[in-house]
Amino acid sequence: MLYPKSHLLYERACKVIPGGVNSPVRSFNGVGGKPVFMVRGEGAYLFDADNNQYIDYVCSWGPLILGHAPSVVIAAIDEATQNGTSLGWATEREIELAERMVKILPAVEKIRFVNSGTEATMSALRVARGYTNREKIVKFSGCYHGHADSLLSASAGSGVATLGIPGSAGVTIGAVKDTITLAYNDLDQVEDTFRQYGETIAAVIIEPIAANMGLVIPLPGYLQGLRQLCDHYGILLIFDEVITGFRLAKGGAQAYFNIKPDLSTFGKIIGGGLPVGAYGGRSDILDKVAPLGPVYQAGTLSGNPLAMAAGIAVLDAIEQKDFYENLAKNTAELVNDLNNVFQASGNFAYAYNIASIFGIWCKPYAKTPPRNYEEVRSANSKWYANLFFALLEQGVALAPSAFEVAFVSFAHQTQHFKNTVIAFANAVTDLSNHV
Ligand code: PLP
Repeated sequence: MLYPKSHLLYERACKVIPGGVNSPVRSFNGVGGKPVFMVRGEGAYLFDADNNQYIDYVCSWGPLILGHAPSVVIAAIDEATQNGTSLGWATEREIELAERMVKILPAVEKIRFVNSGTEATMSALRVARGYTNREKIVKFSGCYHGHADSLLSASAGSGVATLGIPGSAGVTIGAVKDTITLAYNDLDQVEDTFRQYGETIAAVIIEPIAANMGLVIPLPGYLQGLRQLCDHYGILLIFDEVITGFRLAKGGAQAYFNIKPDLSTFGKIIGGGLPVGAYGGRSDILDKVAPLGPVYQAGTLSGNPLAMAAGIAVLDAIEQKDFYENLAKNTAELVNDLNNVFQASGNFAYAYNIASIFGIWCKPYAKTPPRNYEEVRSANSKWYANLFFALLEQGVALAPSAFEVAFVSFAHQTQHFKNTVIAFANAVTDLSNHV
C-alpha cells in the first residue's frame, strides 16, 4: 500500500501539532514509522487519506461497539443537532441517559456526566477523598486511567509497592505523593499495603479488565478479594469501566463479575463516538458532589445534547437479542483461528480474549495470557511492530502499539473475520520468511 497523502498530511500536522497528533499513540511511536491519516469509517472498515481500506479492530479505542457510522447513531445526532449543539442548561436527554445507565448498571444509583474518561476518573477520586476524608489512593501498574496528574505515577517495578514517583515530566512529586502503585493480580501486596496504610487510603482504582497494557484479565478471586479488603478497611473501590462499561457485558464488568464497586467511571461507548465521560455509584457518595455536597466538580459542555443523543442510541441498540453473546462468540472464534495461524507458523504470538476484547501477545510459545505489566513487557515488541505493518499491508488495522487491545464490533461479520484470518496468515508467512 502507498501512503503519499498520509505522509503529506503528517508533515503538515507536525508544523502545528506536537508530533503531528492529538494523542500520542496515534503517532506510531509504539511501532515506528509514520502515522496513517484516516478520512472515513463505515461499518467494520476504515479508509485512509490515500483511499486504502482496512478492517478496523481499533474501533476508535473502544467506543465504536456498533462499528463506524452506524445509521441509528448518526440519525440521533442529526436530530439533536437541529436544536443546537449545546444549550448550556439542564436538558431531558441527560436524565434519559442517566436513567438508562442506572437501570442497567448494578452498582450505579446516581451518575454525573463529564466530557472524557480522564475527567471521570479525576472526579471520582476527588469524590472518594471528599467522602472518606482520606488522602491516599491505590492504583495498579500498567492500568491507565487518563492523564490527571495524580494518576500519572510510575512504578519502581518488580512488584514493589511504589509511592510518589511521577510518571511524566510536569507531574510534581506533590501530585503523586499520595498515589500508591501496586502490581496487578497480586492480592497479597494489596493486603500488605492496606495493613500499613489502610486508614489513610481513600480509594483503590482499577481497570477490572486491564486493557491499557495489552489485555490482562483478573485472576479468579482477585476482584472479589479486592472488594473484601476494601470493605474491611473502609476504602472505596472504584472500577474504571471507561473501556469495560457496556463492552464486557451490558452491565459492564460489575455485572460480568457480579461485584459492586462503590464508584465506577465510564466513557467511550456511552458517547457513541462523541466526547463523553461519567462517574457514578452509591447515592450517599454521589450526594457529596456540588451542588448537594462539598466536593466541587463542573463542566461547560457536560451532558452535551449530541453526546447524550448518541449514547442513548447506542444503549438502545445493545438491547437487541443476544447482542453480547454474539460479539463474544465471534471474538472467541476469531481468536481461535488466529492461534491456529500462529501455531502453523512459528508460534511467535498468542491470541486470547474476554468478551469482544482481544489481545495479541508476541511472546513465543505462550499458552496463557500475561497476568501483569511485567509479564506483558516480557514480549517481543519488535515482532508486534512487524506484525502490525504486515497486517496494514494486508488491509487489517490493529492498534499501533503492543500495549493496546483489539475490539470487535457488531459490524464485524463472517466475511470480515475470514478476510482477517487470511490477512494474518499472509502477514505471518511474510514475517517468518524474514526472520
Ligand atoms: N480509563 C481507561 C480505562 C481508559 O482506557 C482511558 C482511555 O483510554 C481513560 C480512562 C481516559 O479516557 P479519555 O481518553 O477519554 O480521557
